[in-house]
Parts: sequence; C-alpha cells; structure tokens
Amino acid sequence: MHDKTIAELSRSLQSGDFSSVELTTHLLDRVESLGPQLNAFVTVTGELALEQAAKADQRRAAGDAGPLNGIPIVHKDLFCTDGVLTSCASRILDNFISPYDATVVGKLKQAGTVMLGKTNMDEFAMGSSNENSCFGPVKNPWDDTRVPGGSSGGSAAAVAARLLPGATGTDTGGSIRQPAALTGITGLKPTYGRVSRYGMVAFASSLDQAGTLTRSAEDAAMMLGAMAGFDPRDSTSAEKDVPDYRATLDDSLDGLRIGVPTEFFDDGLMPANKTAVEAAIHELEKLGAKISQIHLPNLGLSVPTYYVVAPAECSSNLSRFDGVRFGHRAEKYADLTDMYKKTRGQGFGAEVKRRIMIGTYVLSTGYYDAYYLKAQKVRQLIAADYAAAFKSVDLIAGPTTPTPAFELGAKTDDPITMYLNDIYTIGANLAGLPGMSVPCGFVDGLPVGLQIVGSHFSEARLLNVAHRYQQVTDWHTRAPEMAAGGTART
Ligand code: GLN
Repeated sequence: MHDKTIAELSRSLQSGDFSSVELTTHLLDRVESLGPQLNAFVTVTGELALEQAAKADQRRAAGDAGPLNGIPIVHKDLFCTDGVLTSCASRILDNFISPYDATVVGKLKQAGTVMLGKTNMDEFAMGSSNENSCFGPVKNPWDDTRVPGGSSGGSAAAVAARLLPGATGTDTGGSIRQPAALTGITGLKPTYGRVSRYGMVAFASSLDQAGTLTRSAEDAAMMLGAMAGFDPRDSTSAEKDVPDYRATLDDSLDGLRIGVPTEFFDDGLMPANKTAVEAAIHELEKLGAKISQIHLPNLGLSVPTYYVVAPAECSSNLSRFDGVRFGHRAEKYADLTDMYKKTRGQGFGAEVKRRIMIGTYVLSTGYYDAYYLKAQKVRQLIAADYAAAFKSVDLIAGPTTPTPAFELGAKTDDPITMYLNDIYTIGANLAGLPGMSVPCGFVDGLPVGLQIVGSHFSEARLLNVAHRYQQVTDWHTRAPEMAAGGTART
C-alpha cells in the first residue's frame, strides 16, 4: 500500500481494495518504525488519524467521497492545527497548542484527508538543510549521513521514505523545491497568493507560500486543487478561480517554449547535476517542447537580495514571540525587559537570532536606505528579468540545486555557503512565481531535481509538463532502500 501514489490510493479506496482505517493503520506502523530513524516527525497524531479515517470510510459508504477522501497526509509543523502542537521546530513554541486550523489544513480536512501528524523542519522555516530544528536534524532517507534539504525536510523525508503519499510544505526561498530535489520527490511551490497563508506561522510574509510534496505531479495537482483558492482572511490571497489541475495533465507539449537561463549553469553547478538536468531538458524537447537559451541577468543578485528582505520581514514577524501571548516564557526574570530578553534568548536558536539581528539592522534608521530599500529595488529588477523572459518563452527550466544532498554538518559553520544552496530557487520567490522540482536522475546514488518555473498562475501548465515528463521517465518511482523496511500489521 505504501508504494502507491495518492491517485492510486484514491482508486483503491474507491474500489474497496482496503479501507482508509486499514491504510492509516499500515502507514502509522511505518511512521512508528521508520519515522524515528529519519527524525521526520515532531508529533504523530495516531488516535486522531484513526478517528478521521473511520469518518472517511463512513462518508464513502454513504456515497459522499471526493478524490482525497481517506488519504493520509502530514503537515509541516508551521501550519496551525486545531488542538495539536504547532512548534515551528522552535523552543519558543514548544508548548503551543494551536486553537484553530490554518486555511490549508482546514481545506485539506474538508476534502477528507486524514492527518497523521506534523513534520520536523528548520526553525521558523529558516534553513536549507533542516539542521536548524530544536528537535535535531532530519536525515535523508537515501543516506542517513546526509541532509534532506530544508526547510520542509521532515515532509520531504517522510514522503520519500514512503511513510506518507503526500505532505504540505512552505517555500519562502526554496523550501519545498530544494528538499524535494534532494530526496527524489515532486515539490510544487504555487504562485504567491494562490494558496492562503492564514494560519501559516509567518517567516517572510511577502515570500512565504504553501505548497505540496508528493511522489508525482498528478498527486500535486490533486492536493493543490484542494488547497488553493481565495481566502478573505489572507489579504494577499488571489481572487481567482481554481482550475481543475488534473484535467490538463495530459495536454500536448507540442510547441511549448522552454527557456534555459545560462545563469543557471554557472560554475557552482556540479557537472554531474548539469548532465542530469540537460538530459531532462532534452527529454522535454523530445515531447515537443522548443528549447532556447535565455538570460536572467540579475539572477546573481538574488541571494544577497533575499538575505536582506527575508531577515527584515522575519525580524518584524517574530517580534510577536515575546513570552506574553503564547509559547515559552522564561521562569526567572527581574522585570519586563528582562523577561523579554530571557524568553527570546532561550526560545530562539542561533540562525533565527542571526536573522532577527540582520533584519533589525537593515531596517534601522541610517541603514534602511542602504540595505532594505536597495534590496527592494533589486527585487524589482529580478522580477522584471523574469517578466521579460516570459515574453519569449512559456516556462523556464534548470537545476533545482547546485549539488545533491550534502553531509550533515558540512555547511553549518558557514552561513554564506549554506545560503548559496538557494541560488536557483530564490528568484521565483522574489518574483512571486510558481515553480516545481521533479526528480530527473541520480548522482552517486543521490537524487537530483529538474526545476521548472512558470509565469504567475501557470500551475496547470507546470503540472502538465511535470506529468508528461513523468510518463516517459521513472526517476520519480525510485524508492530509497530504507523504504523497503518497516514493520506492518496489515
Ligand atoms: N533556505 C532559505 C532560507 O534559509 C529558504 C527557506 C524557505 O524557503 N523557507 O531562508
């Protein structure tokens, strides 16, 4: 059962091969036996899952089952989940039980999904390797001495290890696409505003976007269809109809214009990754796409721009964690200021503190113009590069990451080297564009991802391209050896 995709499970549930309770029990067993090796989970909600699964089976018996009814999933631990710990992998929230569901969680619940738990992540989604969690790093299922990528590393590892068929994640600078690439699964970051951010703990509000981690593009289409849509509680959510993403998956790619930015194939890209990505682009050409070289001249400025804008927004967003309203509060303190200092000093990890300090600095009088304002201007230039490119091509293709998964601890002492992992993904966030990462090969036994980026609200096209690619390749069906392990009661 655990090898099946969401689409396959949906068909099996519908034809009565097994019930959602049976499926949920089986996957819970896997989560219990394999989850700890990966450190992929913060919370496992077994009882709740079995209750939700039983209800899903009842709905099906009553003839009221949509395509996601009874499908087990997990949420990154920064989506608020009613009555369940929502920690953001931070000590400052390690006792925070959310009193409500994020819109994404509510919508997926409404669609009939079963929540098996909450996944580990980089603290407040700040990181590229999932080593910044107060619960310790997540391991890559392909090699447990390596990182799974961050910040949605727990979700990615769980889906790659066949513990769950699908998970939610968030992508502020690459945190869905990058871990998807490093664990060999399919990651989708929708257009900014496509999916509501209500109830998603904010990191950098102008960049954050919720999306999916699944094993196929078809599954991503199914999940996105349930998650997307206007939400009056998020003022930046788009008032745009949600298309039937599954309906266009099989569309022809004849004449599709794909641009390959030369800037994506720089010296930082490992030659073996380059070969795999070029082969994938050639495969798209065989499917009818027309490939051309394009330029994104300001791409090289995206990492420094992001690492001004994102910390600035985070320093403002994280000021709400002060020990007064929710989460951790220091036990002993002299006065109010001391309480803030001790609470925040104890509650935040090193990377989060670094970002708050950088953010406060770039927003302060005297430095605002030189850093924050400048970064906002460069952000516009980067967005303009993409807009210009989309005048002559329909989508952009290239690598998701410069290298395959690296060793745990390899970059933790050097933040700049760590930040450079995001070089190919950050541009889409700065410009608010949708992007996907699709498995396209292996380098030394480790997965590599092809990234495709489209114009605003072109998710249907991206999913179509990813799906057609997955029909002629089998990279996305390869499972790590550890996925064959685990105990099973059913
Ligand atoms: N790696 C980037 C960062 O550390 C992106 C994180 C994300 O997308 N949440 O900020």
